[in-house]
Amino acid sequence: MPYQQGKGNRLPPERASKLGHLEVIQSELVQKLCKSFNDPEFVEHAGSVSKWEALPKDGAELKIIFSTDGSIQIIENPNPPFKAIAFVKSALLRVDQYAISKIDKDTPNPFALRDLMKESALYHSTAFPLRNVYIEGKTNYDAIREVLFESVKDKGLNDSLEGAMMETLKWIAYEKWLDVPKTELEKFGCPHCEKNVATLPFNEEKGKCPECNGEIFITDMFGLHQSMTDDYAPNQVASDYMGVSETLMIFTPIRFYWEKKREVLRNCLFVKDGPLSLRATLAKLSAPIRRFFEFAKSKGIDVAMIGQEKTGQFFDHLQLIGNAAPVGSCFIPDNKYIQEQIKHNNTTAIYGADTNYGAKLFVKMNDYHKMVINVPTGQRGEFVTSPSQEHLINFKNIVATLPKILSNKFEGALLPIELANKIASLSTYPSAKTLELFADKHKGNH
Ligand SMILES: [Zn+2]
Repeated sequence: MPYQQGKGNRLPPERASKLGHLEVIQSELVQKLCKSFNDPEFVEHAGSVSKWEALPKDGAELKIIFSTDGSIQIIENPNPPFKAIAFVKSALLRVDQYAISKIDKDTPNPFALRDLMKESALYHSTAFPLRNVYIEGKTNYDAIREVLFESVKDKGLNDSLEGAMMETLKWIAYEKWLDVPKTELEKFGCPHCEKNVATLPFNEEKGKCPECNGEIFITDMFGLHQSMTDDYAPNQVASDYMGVSETLMIFTPIRFYWEKKREVLRNCLFVKDGPLSLRATLAKLSAPIRRFFEFAKSKGIDVAMIGQEKTGQFFDHLQLIGNAAPVGSCFIPDNKYIQEQIKHNNTTAIYGADTNYGAKLFVKMNDYHKMVINVPTGQRGEFVTSPSQEHLINFKNIVATLPKILSNKFEGALLPIELANKIASLSTYPSAKTLELFADKHKGNH
């Protein structure tokens, strides 16, 4: 997802003349009321206020940076029968501090960027037949399940991925980092008989449902089929796939180094676009991921990862509280603050307990660079409801690295995400126009 152009109080003022002729504005009452509608000064509720604290200063810079981002484009024909195809692209980029230091943070040379991305990026694209397009002999329901499975197994262009995303999925789902990994997948809803009995034995990618003998893919564990019918899939299926593929992309180098050369992980920062969270049924991966960070920590490897939120309620909240915050500080909201001040929920439920694998925090590096980031926490694999700096894994080194990867192009922007976004962006390459033509060429074949 690209960075947003300036948010906050920088919208041009609405011109009164445009509204002047409307009768409603001429009403005395309306004029009086409008005069009383002031922009409020943001006031926090008593009892839960933002507590900014100084960022640690004693960390060491992490030299190798991996970043990931994805993009999605839904091509929908506005005319009957309203064919809809979704294209999804996700990218993984590796850069080191030396390469980053050579890039001009204000006006980066596009050729230097291109060379950097060409040498160090992996990407993967796929397409889903969402509605009113079909694959010979299959319902869309089964076709999409197969596309999901084949997409995770994709070799990428030039075999660059070599099926690495599937290996990573199995590594997480079967918790292969353990001396004794899981003997089978956690039970999930069978796509055929719908009973919550589907599973696969250790390391298998497909098999049969023990109840109905229907074919099961490992990717069925995400439960995306639950929102589909035989011939209809909502756009959410494609964006959920994007969330899964971004997650598998960023965990691929983690798995690689964990298996081959663990100590390299001490020198890496993994940067993901968006929150460290998997929604709804995708959250099946969140608990094992939390357990991995904990396990790695117990083995003396503090894996440094951040997710950056560039939109949403936490981002909007930062616009309210960030300006008054001191430079070089952070604020880690607890559950009470999140529910009351950010989500505006009157509940004692724990926000994100099932879905998140990182705590959310606000960071103010300087007046221009304020951001919402997520950092994995360590507390025996449990969700941490009142996280402190001590819970955030490798926080000191993350903080020492952030100043080196800031981009001056957008407020709070991180260069590795900006670069990954350039690669993943479907609207720039291949162009949306190309995709439309492609989608068009294949219609009417039946
Ligand atoms: Zn079944």
